[in-house]
Amino acid sequence: MSPETPAISRPEDVMLEHYDAALARHGDTPQGALWPNAADRNTRFDVMLDLLADQAGGPVVLCDLGCGTGELLKRIHERGLSHIDYLGVDRSRSALELARAKFPGERFVELDVNSPGADLSGIECDFLVANGLFTVKHLMSHEDMARFLETTVGNVWPWVRRGLAFNVMSKVVDWERDDLFHASMDDMARVLHKLAGRRVRMRADYGLYEFTCYAYKDPPPPAADAPPEASTSESDVVRVLRPRLPTADELLPYLRRIDAARIYSNFGPLALELEGRLGRHFALPAGGVVSAGTGTAALVGSILACAGRARPDRPLALMPSYTFVATAVAAQECGYEPHLADVDADTWLLDPCKLAGHPNLDRIGVVMPVATYGRPVAQAEWMQFRELTGIPVVIDGAASFETIAEDPSRFLGPIPVAISLHATKSLGTGEGGCVATNDIGLATLIGQALNFGFHFSRDSCAPSTNGKMSEFHAAVGLADLSGWELKRRAFRRVAERYRSGLTQAGLGAQLHCAPDICSSYVLFHCRDPGQSARLQEALKRHGIEFRLWYGLGLQHQPYFSRSEADSMPVTDALAPCLLGLPMALDLPDAVIDRVVQAVIDGTRRCLPHAV
Ligand SMILES: *Cc1c(COP(=O)(O)O)cnc(C)c1O
Repeated sequence: MSPETPAISRPEDVMLEHYDAALARHGDTPQGALWPNAADRNTRFDVMLDLLADQAGGPVVLCDLGCGTGELLKRIHERGLSHIDYLGVDRSRSALELARAKFPGERFVELDVNSPGADLSGIECDFLVANGLFTVKHLMSHEDMARFLETTVGNVWPWVRRGLAFNVMSKVVDWERDDLFHASMDDMARVLHKLAGRRVRMRADYGLYEFTCYAYKDPPPPAADAPPEASTSESDVVRVLRPRLPTADELLPYLRRIDAARIYSNFGPLALELEGRLGRHFALPAGGVVSAGTGTAALVGSILACAGRARPDRPLALMPSYTFVATAVAAQECGYEPHLADVDADTWLLDPCKLAGHPNLDRIGVVMPVATYGRPVAQAEWMQFRELTGIPVVIDGAASFETIAEDPSRFLGPIPVAISLHATKSLGTGEGGCVATNDIGLATLIGQALNFGFHFSRDSCAPSTNGKMSEFHAAVGLADLSGWELKRRAFRRVAERYRSGLTQAGLGAQLHCAPDICSSYVLFHCRDPGQSARLQEALKRHGIEFRLWYGLGLQHQPYFSRSEADSMPVTDALAPCLLGLPMALDLPDAVIDRVVQAVIDGTRRCLPHAV
């Protein structure tokens, strides 16, 4: 026993010693983990992984409680289950050391889930398996072992989003070994029922003297011989964007916190936690992120705080024509009329150097550079612009949640960046948004502008609106942020498949997708409007939706068509050519390949006529 091992305080502590002794004696072998042989152990692994049987495609976090030296991960690799994001948890430091050495870069956590103050948030997962954690009881009494089992599964269950599985030794055997935990199926049925009502299952058909217990939060998956759920067939239309936000089960822990606190809005605890976590994500000082009811509200709050409402001598908001209408809508809500400018052909962004000499500057009250499709806007040159002209700047960074986090020192600063958390953007709350800045005083003013001009009192002191985020939306945001790494990777898989498919076809240079732009967009850059029209026809023929996400530019939106505008050579050329292709974080490979095929078809089709 090493000197730092705590004194034995609970019956199960004896087990840790027992396992460490076996590991020391037999090394990293099945015997070292108290398994008789490797073949049986693989059978058990496979039966455990049955828990995920209906999860063939989508990414899942799997927590392996009592992971030992991480052999389950080896099995996962052998079986090519690349959608599993593995997390090993154990109390044994020596076992974890071996595991980490075998699987560098994988997550292995030392944690005692039953210790009174244990923070279990780190084990939040879709599925949890405890393989062999409850089969050996060694010197423990049957009652102590039963208590250990029930406490353990009860403690972890709130952190499991979809289901858990564990195994115990059977009582239906010729003889029961004293050192093993032989549990009755009725007792285990009661344990499972407490967790999951009737959403439970047991399996004892795999030839070993044990059985495996499963508890699910959703209804259990269909049995292996049931007909598969109808999936997207070849003839189904492929939708251009199918967002996925956290499920009801993933939201439940957060909704319970709302029930307990009875605070539903007004920068409540969940909204503040979301602001804090987003701030850390962006490496901003505390208070640097303000939540908002929508991305548009985030813009309105920023404009009101930086520039106030439009004044007769400065009635205009300078913005690119090539943007989503929300930019103009936000400006109008603050009393400004848009003045539309053209973007740079390479960056698709407003060029501050060019605009510093704009003839209308003396009538412009606010400038709104847009992070086009999430391409981030650098702070430095706009700060120069602001200094030079004295005109406030607010960045519409609606789709730039990911890209600004790549280099916060460059893309975040004194100029506020309004971010959308709409379901169709990469991180989502349904409807929602936030503003990010390192100017904490400004952030406070923005919060005030979004809350009736109140600040520590009910006196309305500044131009304002009601643009706050509700606690329910914050709950969605917190849950989505918890799963963000997985969501990001799932998006990235789709982008990479588009990239490799189109690159093989020699069309890679015409593709724009993450990480250069926001993950929820996949854009095909047609050579000219003619190619775009042909490709659109081909996509229609193949039953594939597409979208010009920003339309043809604001000057073509009926309501904004009479806005003051510069000449628009770049926007006019670019807008019809940037064609949005289907994206969803779980878009099946076969569907991506179908879209790629349609793009090849649509871009090659007329070549014979052209020559
Ligand atoms: C999505 C988007 C917005 C608006 O955000 P909402 O959350 O929908 O209000 C604003 N500007 C741009 C460029 C966007 O893409």
